[in-house]
Amino acid sequence: MTKFNRTLVTTALPYANGPVHIGHLAGVYVPADIYVRYLRLKGEDVLLIGGSDEHGVPITIKAKKEGVTPQDVVDKYHQIIKDSFEEFGITFDVYSRTSSKMHHETASEFFKKLYEKGEFIEKVSEQYYDAEANQFLADRYITGTCPHCKNEGAYGDQCESCGTSLNANDLIDPKSAITGNQPQLKETKHWYLPLDKYEPQLKKWILEDHKEWKANVYGQCKSWLDNGLHPRAVTRDLDWGVKVPVEGADGKVLYVWFDAPIGYISATKELTPDWEKYWKAKDSKMVHFIGKDNIVFHCIIFPAMLNAEGSYILPENVPANEFLNLEGDKISTSRNWAVWLHEYLKEFPNKQDVLRYVLTANAPETKDNDFTWKDFQARNNNELVAVFGNFVNRALILTHKYYKGIVPEAGELTDFDKEILAEIPVIKANVEKNLETYHFREALKEAMNLARLGNKYLADTEPWKVVKTDEERVKTIMNIALQIVTNLSTLMEPFLPFTTQKLRGFLNIEPLAWDKISANVLPAGHQINKSELLFEKIEDETIQAQVDKLLATKEANEIANYEAAPAKANINFDDFMKMDIRVGTIVAAEKVAKTKKLLKLTVDTGIDKRTVVSGIAEHYQPEDIIGTQVSILVNLEPKKLRGIESQGMILMAEDADGKLAFVSPDKAVVAGAEIR
Ligand SMILES: [Zn+2]
Repeated sequence: MTKFNRTLVTTALPYANGPVHIGHLAGVYVPADIYVRYLRLKGEDVLLIGGSDEHGVPITIKAKKEGVTPQDVVDKYHQIIKDSFEEFGITFDVYSRTSSKMHHETASEFFKKLYEKGEFIEKVSEQYYDAEANQFLADRYITGTCPHCKNEGAYGDQCESCGTSLNANDLIDPKSAITGNQPQLKETKHWYLPLDKYEPQLKKWILEDHKEWKANVYGQCKSWLDNGLHPRAVTRDLDWGVKVPVEGADGKVLYVWFDAPIGYISATKELTPDWEKYWKAKDSKMVHFIGKDNIVFHCIIFPAMLNAEGSYILPENVPANEFLNLEGDKISTSRNWAVWLHEYLKEFPNKQDVLRYVLTANAPETKDNDFTWKDFQARNNNELVAVFGNFVNRALILTHKYYKGIVPEAGELTDFDKEILAEIPVIKANVEKNLETYHFREALKEAMNLARLGNKYLADTEPWKVVKTDEERVKTIMNIALQIVTNLSTLMEPFLPFTTQKLRGFLNIEPLAWDKISANVLPAGHQINKSELLFEKIEDETIQAQVDKLLATKEANEIANYEAAPAKANINFDDFMKMDIRVGTIVAAEKVAKTKKLLKLTVDTGIDKRTVVSGIAEHYQPEDIIGTQVSILVNLEPKKLRGIESQGMILMAEDADGKLAFVSPDKAVVAGAEIR
């Protein structure tokens, strides 16, 4: 096995057309941060590289829709993303952006080098062009009818209705999203990277040399490689991005998937003049943390680019995660179905570690997982508060109570004491083994076992009882409990950095190196500080407020996605005139016994006062509608409902979410007024 002397960790560049949500965090940033914090504690040379991906068509579309420039869009979201990562404790050594000058230069040079080496194929093809807008149309700028399902709103690259991926030329009746005109086919030249040329190298590198990769990553790569690779265009006709730096390429930019991974290189360059050591030395280890949707780009396309360039190393591992869902539904930026990091930080101040804990304990490492607010609450209350917090609190409070906060000397150890202390290096080794193989969920579980061990030790030894009979014995118990607390402040650091910092404050100690984790780490005679609770219980109301927020989102989505039913067949005027619709005033209302939906109304129709049974009990309280003017069809044949004869029908409007509303005149009119 290769001995590595430094590690370069990259995290997928979040796309700067929206803020970051828990799916991003669980998939990429929390595990990457845990990994890097662990290596730093071990004293290793490691860099965590991040940045915003600021090019590509969706950003230009968003800008157009909001009437701002693409630069405005990326400036806004880059700042939100960067600030929220920082507050959440993701310890990037550099968090850059692909609109930076450094990146444009780096990506441009990279392309030029491949161009000069003759690595590209030049190809002329026909693409849709909008003459009025004077530009070629990116796939997302073309809509039309899907040839498979006949959905009229399919995009040039995909039909979101049936999920088929399309070519723009497949669309029936294509339209430009810019002008609405029918676009014309026009010839355009692009540069292609012949992925097939690198297929043998990639096959050996992944399928033979990296069998240890996660099954989901290895499997996806194998399927791509088995299907055979093809040349892939690395340029686009677009005015937002890194300009293609060769003659005759006006109006063309690098394809966002060519430029984005080079962003890792530019960011490292921005950070240190020593960047080449991390990217090119054979004893450097590169690890890409990504979500499963990015596997092909990081395992096939970027490595092919690096191979073509020739001087770079390839990643040692690509620990991609599956997706995290939210309350049983796919997380979606466009549907606002997400827990947004910047909102969480505002609504749960100083609770970064609770979210870090829940996202790690429930990480989608091998399959898609679900985040629920109930689970969030349960893990906080039953694990962080009841196990970790409870143990630490008891140990520190008793030390103050019995010894004024001075660590007591341990006396002779019992067999039980020795057993407990012997667990510490075992747990440490288990955490290490799991972290080094990217099993973060398991690593956290093992680390929590140390808190469980401490909790159990105090529960079994009962110092608060023993103190009445054997004060010497209690000194030993408390010394051992404090050794465990101190080790927790190191062992938990990668996972819960805010908590461990607080804990070190209580213990009155500096950060300890990973290798200091041992049975004897806090010296007797050391003075500890006053402590507070490490975690607080999260109440039902807090959780309900979050659930309500999601329900409101769901409702708003239903309204936004509402499609009016198509019009019914025409009728003639005589048919219409057969209906006698009047304005009536509700003069009495009561619930119909033993029904959920029905109200019995008495309505003054001007003609008479009559009884109408109406299915509106879930929408209106009887006492609230007395005096309300409504529309009533008075010549509908009477009908018995629950033994009550209903004489007519109140007209109701039904909203997208099924809520009913009266159809009332906008000013008071006389009861019996005809509606026509
Ligand atoms: Zn379709």
